[in-house]
Amino acid sequence: MKTLRQIISGVHPHWVGDGFPVRSLFSYAESDRFDPFLLLDYAGPHHFAPAEAPRGVGEHPHRGFETITIVYQGELAHRDSSGSQGVIQAGDVQWMTAAAGVVHEEFHSERFTRDGGTLEMVQLWLNLPAKDKMSHPKYQGLVDSEIPRVLLPNEAGTVRVIAGTFQGTRGPAQTFTQVNVWDVQLADSKQAELSLPEGHTSLMIVQSGVLRIDGQPIHAAELAELERAGSEVQVAAESSARLLVLTGEPIGETVVGQGPFVMNTRVEITDAILDYRNGRMGHLT
Ligand code: MN
Repeated sequence: MKTLRQIISGVHPHWVGDGFPVRSLFSYAESDRFDPFLLLDYAGPHHFAPAEAPRGVGEHPHRGFETITIVYQGELAHRDSSGSQGVIQAGDVQWMTAAAGVVHEEFHSERFTRDGGTLEMVQLWLNLPAKDKMSHPKYQGLVDSEIPRVLLPNEAGTVRVIAGTFQGTRGPAQTFTQVNVWDVQLADSKQAELSLPEGHTSLMIVQSGVLRIDGQPIHAAELAELERAGSEVQVAAESSARLLVLTGEPIGETVVGQGPFVMNTRVEITDAILDYRNGRMGHLT
């Protein structure tokens, strides 16, 4: 059995740019116990009135890790220094490997800006092993239709497998290390037994409803951290519940980060800052 280690609750939202009212449920700046995960921002649900100018975050860099953007409601647009751009719709996931360096912007899409509506999304930062930190940047635009759904027994709900494997069904994301990213919906008053890998950092972020693990209630916008030891965990929904399940094999390397750069040494951070300032991560055009 995997047992509950702690619940993170009471995190206050803050704005990222003018588009993303997020709760940072954890950050590498505070603790390395969530290795290989570096940061998790949970946004919403938040209603935006129709507007003229897109809200969001302007040009900024990343180096040394991956950003995974999961859109549940609303619609985002991104544009980056490689000239790639696109729209991330509800149900879609953008898996961006910043690696050696990406400069990008993240905004509400034109349509969402014009029409307004509810935004709900997660942005997860996933660390890369030292040997892969300076590899070429890449994008995986995972659309809803290619993310497989697995039905839980006893009509307990569904699991969308974004990355890793759930009961033999493999998600589409290509990853550098062993991770699972599952979008789980549990039906009202149902329970399920989930099997998580022994030794993995194991997290559950509740988005709606109330989840119970080891008898403890976990509410919306709260995070449950499970012990790395053990594998099976019983989850029960008090009302219907949606949760994001993350597991990852710890990388176990020193993390030195500053803002959007996460490397292994202070010298590498200085290099990242200089490379960005000198345009070596590119520019938006
Ligand atoms: Mn970014």
